[in-house]
Amino acid sequence: MTRQVPIAEGLFTWPAARPALLASRCKKCGVASFPAAQSCMACSSQDVAPEELPGRGTLWTWTIQRFMPKTPYRSNETPETFKPYGVGYLELPGGVRVEGRLTENDPAKLHIGMEMDVVFAPYRTEDNGDEVISFFFQPVA
Ligand SMILES: [Zn+2]
Repeated sequence: MTRQVPIAEGLFTWPAARPALLASRCKKCGVASFPAAQSCMACSSQDVAPEELPGRGTLWTWTIQRFMPKTPYRSNETPETFKPYGVGYLELPGGVRVEGRLTENDPAKLHIGMEMDVVFAPYRTEDNGDEVISFFFQPVA
């Protein structure tokens, strides 16, 4: 049986019926951080609480990555099999912007302000067969 493991601990709830990105929100000033942090990036307070982020937001900015990133980029791709992918920031309700990969890489189908869902899918396969799960932003159908 294939195991599915999150790409990093604490980045999102996993396993979960409806996985969600995990942020931290400052109880003093209300600013949220993703990924979750021990202290507030705005006021340095350590009075922060974990918070699950909403699963839908709007595309704040984006670009297409057209060449294979340098290490520590880890995927199963080689420079020969690399496919361009979209990358962008999703602005979520509650004032958090999260950077991530897009499921779409056709510039004609992407525009700032469009609604996107946060989805969770295999990113690469480890040598032992484990599927590494990451999050992606997918245009709302
Ligand atoms: Zn703060």
